[in-house]
Amino acid sequence: MALITKKIKGTEDVLPKQSYRWQFVENIMREEAAKFGFKEIRTPVFEHTELFARGVGQTTDVVQKEMYTFETKGKESVTLRPEGTAGAARAILEHSLTNEGLPIKAYYLTSCYRYEKPQAGRLREFHQFGIEEYGTSSPLADAEVISLADSIFKRLQIRDLHLEINSIGCPACRAEYHKALKEYFEEYKGELCETCLTRLDKNPMRILDCKSPVCSKIAENAPKIVDYLCEECQSHFQQVQRFLDTAKIDYKINPTIVRGLDYYTKTVFEFVSDAIGSQGTVCGGGRYDGLIEELGGQHLPSLGYAMGIERLLMVMENQGIEIPTPDTCALYIAGLGDNAQVKAFELVQSVREFGLYAETDVVGRGLRPQMKYADKIGAQFSMVIGDNEIEQGVAKVKNMTTGEQTELAMDETFAQKFSRLQMTAKFADIQE
Ligand code: ATP
Ligand code: MG
Repeated sequence: MALITKKIKGTEDVLPKQSYRWQFVENIMREEAAKFGFKEIRTPVFEHTELFARGVGQTTDVVQKEMYTFETKGKESVTLRPEGTAGAARAILEHSLTNEGLPIKAYYLTSCYRYEKPQAGRLREFHQFGIEEYGTSSPLADAEVISLADSIFKRLQIRDLHLEINSIGCPACRAEYHKALKEYFEEYKGELCETCLTRLDKNPMRILDCKSPVCSKIAENAPKIVDYLCEECQSHFQQVQRFLDTAKIDYKINPTIVRGLDYYTKTVFEFVSDAIGSQGTVCGGGRYDGLIEELGGQHLPSLGYAMGIERLLMVMENQGIEIPTPDTCALYIAGLGDNAQVKAFELVQSVREFGLYAETDVVGRGLRPQMKYADKIGAQFSMVIGDNEIEQGVAKVKNMTTGEQTELAMDETFAQKFSRLQMTAKFADIQE
């Protein structure tokens, strides 16, 4: 029994009292994405395991250790999405969206699943807002998607987020760099952690990303990719910086950012906050020019990023950023007796049809507990209907803040009249 009433470790509930915080953030993300021409894409929560193995990359932590993979009754291996890019890329290939004109611009708001050690800012089910742009190699696109992230953070009023950028080159310049890195890390073979030892051969760049203090100390003096970039990658990186300057977006070049995906090329970046401790990266992304080819499509330069919504909300909470609370109930109508209850139900319906939030008793309680409930939901106005009111066709609407009472006829114009009354009260409130 205990199992039924306990959520799975590393998952969180968003309760009705809290969900407005999520909706506020999500709405701003949707609005900003729309301003930049991005439309929502929704893909399934699970995909063929092979897609993530390819799309995220065999040598990544995500694929090696973190995926929720299981066999279906039909003996297929499927995986809960650990991130949003692979599914989006699969969908644009499957539906040949490239034929509909480039670039393809999409955003997603989804849950992701990773088997990680749960801690503050690190969950097993978490949520991401992500941007996907396919079919452009221009550095202007890099700056534009970063600017979209920046404008979301500005609208959320988040302070002290640092944008850190790097270029990890293309497969051509990276080959040289890998060689240099390998030579460098070979010297420290005895000190590197076990995971990094396996990275040494397959993907030495990932050692730069290692969170173990010993490895990151060794990594500090490792050769830097910027010194190995080919002419094209160098110029791309410089132009991204120029466009960021034009957009007046502050950034710092951080040569240790390599990101978690295998198919990242050229620009990589992170937005990091100091407000939430060690899981401070709220947004990460970059270019993945080789991804679509890796999934069997044509060469299609692409880019994108994802931000963790839980981490963003944590930053906002820690910075005391206020999120507007939803409107409370405009009108609560208590009905005493069968006839009055029917009338209350009818009036409440008309007020709702008029576009306002109204409630009446659906539990069958007496007057006192009903008024207590009206108080609890923060009703702005309340009204009590009994046999008398029904007989006269008129009832008193009470402003719960000022105590002021206004008589309203309970006819077909009731909702309209109530709406006017509520608006006037709202105005008076603003003017105070
Ligand atoms: P980290 O280095 O923190 O593990 P990552 O490189 O694995 O992050 P990405 O795959 O780039 O993260 O995901 C983008 C964003 O999603 C992260 O910057 C973070 O905000 C959020 N995120 C990633 N993993 C988790 C998780 N387990 N719980 C909560 N948020 C997460
Ligand atoms: Mg991770």
